[in-house]
Amino acid sequence: VSIEFTIINEIFRRRVRAGDDVLLGIGDDAALTRLPDDSDLVTATDALVAGTHFLTTAPARSVGHRCLAVNLSDLAAMAAEPLWASLALGLPDFDRAWLEDFADGFFALADRYAVRLIGGDTVRSGSLFAAVTVQGCVPRGAVVRRSAASAGDLIYVTGCPGDAAAGRRLATGNPQLPESRVNPMEPLYRQFYFPEPRLAAGKALRSIASAMIDLSDGLHADLGRLLEASGAGASLDVARLPLSIDIRAAFDLPAALELALCGGDDYELCFTVPPDKISLLDGFAERAGCPLTMIGEVCKESGLRWNQSGLNYTVPSSGFEHFE
Ligand code: ADP
Ligand code: MG
Repeated sequence: VSIEFTIINEIFRRRVRAGDDVLLGIGDDAALTRLPDDSDLVTATDALVAGTHFLTTAPARSVGHRCLAVNLSDLAAMAAEPLWASLALGLPDFDRAWLEDFADGFFALADRYAVRLIGGDTVRSGSLFAAVTVQGCVPRGAVVRRSAASAGDLIYVTGCPGDAAAGRRLATGNPQLPESRVNPMEPLYRQFYFPEPRLAAGKALRSIASAMIDLSDGLHADLGRLLEASGAGASLDVARLPLSIDIRAAFDLPAALELALCGGDDYELCFTVPPDKISLLDGFAERAGCPLTMIGEVCKESGLRWNQSGLNYTVPSSGFEHFE
């Protein structure tokens, strides 16, 4: 029995839950699935490479969680319902304990959102990587794009941008810290190692948001992409940014603001809402299970203008942080 067979069957296939929409899953040359009637198919792929997209010291469970979570976050940002995932794994060696933990993280999240693993590929590779493709659906025409924000729309974010990058900075700032001392359940670490895709929020925004994007590279950069796609700009207030108690306890205000605007790895949603639909957000936090904060307004003039107490605030220029 080959190692590849063992990995596919004993570690992955064994844990996949059945679903009526999967006519053929793992085991044939390709998967065969059925989309609900009157729906559009939504597909996203994101690859995570060790040392670049996750710390080589990251717990395996976190890597399994994150490679799926970052993809589900893309579906959330399209207001889609997730259905199926495919997993391409590149492994430098066969470490069964690592793979079991990876699969624990992957399936804990997959099962929570009824996502079925329908296939993938398993290869030997110099660098460890996990490339996931997710597919989901939206009722025909109900997708929320990046490109339809208009001047006058209000801008919102879910959760607390900055927390994940704060967790990453704490983790990378202590390279000597033994893994046992890095408690992944402390809030900032948890936001970094186990981000929760905002699927309920995305779906709840279907007939409310005019445009939406998920935050992977930082609020400033990703909101900039939404506005550029919409041919608009924005006026924003840093005093409105929802900084968590945890980030304020670990960092001073300038550092916390920089992490919230430029840190990345948030996997929160940023979206715009036309003024006549704002009242539809009443009770949203309870329904969607996450806090919501209004941070500014879309304007005609391109570019993002951040203000702090009425004065112009210059966003620190910090690029994407590679791990090593
Ligand atoms: P093929 O040669 O047809 O590509 P493989 O031996 O690569 O077949 O894979 C056998 C089956 O296992 C296929 O259904 C494939 O989709 C699935 N598979 C391979 N690797 C994974 C994985 N890491 N997770 C889930 N399914 C996998
Ligand atoms: Mg193959």
